[in-house]
Order: sequence, then C-alpha cells, then structure tokens
Amino acid sequence: MINALKEVFPWQQNLLCEWHVTTAILAYIKRERVFRIAINQTDEQVAEEEAKQDKFMARVSGLIISTTVNTYQTRLKGIQQDYKHHIELLQYLANTWLDPWATQIIRAYADQYLHFGNRATSRIEGGHSVLKKYLQTSMGDLKMVMEKVNLLLTNQHVQHGASMGQAKDRTPQRLMIPLFAELVGRVTPFVLLKVLGQYDMLASKDLPPCHHLLRRSMGVPCHHEIRNRLQQQDVLHLSDIHERWHFIKPTLGFLSVTAGQPLLMNPRVIKSKGRPKKSKSKKTSTQRDPSAFEIEAKKAKERKGRVLRPRK
Ligand SMILES: [Zn+2]
Repeated sequence: MINALKEVFPWQQNLLCEWHVTTAILAYIKRERVFRIAINQTDEQVAEEEAKQDKFMARVSGLIISTTVNTYQTRLKGIQQDYKHHIELLQYLANTWLDPWATQIIRAYADQYLHFGNRATSRIEGGHSVLKKYLQTSMGDLKMVMEKVNLLLTNQHVQHGASMGQAKDRTPQRLMIPLFAELVGRVTPFVLLKVLGQYDMLASKDLPPCHHLLRRSMGVPCHHEIRNRLQQQDVLHLSDIHERWHFIKPTLGFLSVTAGQPLLMNPRVIKSKGRPKKSKSKKTSTQRDPSAFEIEAKKAKERKGRVLRPRK
C-alpha cells in the first residue's frame, strides 16, 4: 500500500492510521506476552499483566498526540527510561514504528498537513461497512452492485443534507459570541467548537506558544490568529475558515465581501413551531419535504377517512 502510494501519488504526504498503529502495538504486546508475570498466572497476575499493558498503551497514546517535537522527544525518553528492562519492546517500537514512520504518526509532524482531522481510517472503514450492508450478498452481478451503490449514495446524500440542515439550525448557545458573528450558520458547529477551544486558550495565564497546528491540519484559525484579530477589534471572517467546513461552498468572489462587519450580532431569529405561512415562491421555502414515514402516515390517515365516510 505504502509503495503503491509512492508510485501513484509521489507528491502526496500520507499519514499512518493512529488506530491501526496502536492496535498493532497492543497486539504485539499480547502476542509476545511482554508484561507476563509468571508462566501459569493467577487471576490477580493476569489482571496485573493487563494493567501493565494498559499503562504502556496510555504512554504510547500520549506519545502519538505530542503536539511539538520537543514534547515527543521528552515523552519518548520517558518511555525509554521507564521500560529500559523491556529491551525487545523498545526495539520493536523504534524499528517497526518510530524510526521509519514517526513523521506519519506523531501529531507534531502529522498535523503539519491538512488532514481535516482524519488521522485514522475509521471513516473509510465505516463507509466500507455501510456499503457491505447495502450489498448484503457478495453474489450479485455488476448491475445489482451498481443499483445498490446508487441507492447507497442517494440515501447518504439525503442523510448528509438532513444532518447539515440540523447543524445549521441548531447552533450551540456557547458559539453565539461576537467573534463568530460572521460564521454562525455558515460553517459547521463542529469546527466552530475547535476554534472556540483556541479562543478559550487565550484566557489562560500560561498560554503556550502557537504551533499553528489547527491552521495547518484543519484549515481554521489558531489562537495567535484569533488574538491578532481581537487586537484589531475585528471578528473572524468566512475566508478564515477552509471551505471544507462551509455549509455553502464559496464562489470565487467570496473573499471580497468580508470586510467591515459590525462587532455586534443581531439577535438570532428563532423559528417558532407554529404553522409556517404558505409562500407562493416555492424555492425560498425552508420547509422540508415530508419524510417517507410522514407520507405513509398521511396516506394511512386518508385511507382511514375514506373508510369512515358513509358509503353511497
Ligand atoms: Zn498560530
């Protein structure tokens, strides 16, 4: 796989899946019985072995999420010190993973690339399992596969649209801050929460230096950018957020319409639950199409109505 990537996409940086790396390390520890205490272990000893495994894996996870090269090296030295009697384990960790792949695993390196938070392959595997659910059988012909894939994509598209609509409508209250005046309802709350985390960091007394990891890996402002903006008495603009996170993908002219926004937000318009007024121009209506079950319920109601009506 790695060789194929080098051959086909030589210009692309690729990362190793965090989940697969840690799973492989844990499998190695279990297979080699690295922390075994005795040959025939008592229940307590088994529990102790497992606790030691977990402890080591926590150290590995800590190593992977190091956000600076310094932290990574310090944590690695700590592991090498604390596990110096497990020479083979340390060799395995170095030879199999860290020496060849550290820059594709450790976040201090991996977060230099725009990966939009995809550090593991779970999304692809999730997609694969959904596809398998749709296919149901591996015995179908090409036509069946095409039809099922078509159905899958159509349904996923609808589902995506629905969850995006929901995300757009229901912005968490803590995101309703002046800094986000231009962004609320236009970029996903998921990513606004990430930016909010950076904003909150500004309040901390010992603010760490900004390594711009959020900007580089997710395409959104890191805390130094936010601080600069606040110093200029300005807000964050739509152009500060990578279009990956926009509800509506920008057109070419979008960069020019972002200047001079007021710092004060208008009150949010809350849609009441009352029956929406009927509009003649259907295109501007935000009323959603009825769901399948609603159509069915309506039909059932109509049928019932017919039955109850006296026959002539
Ligand atoms: Zn920065």
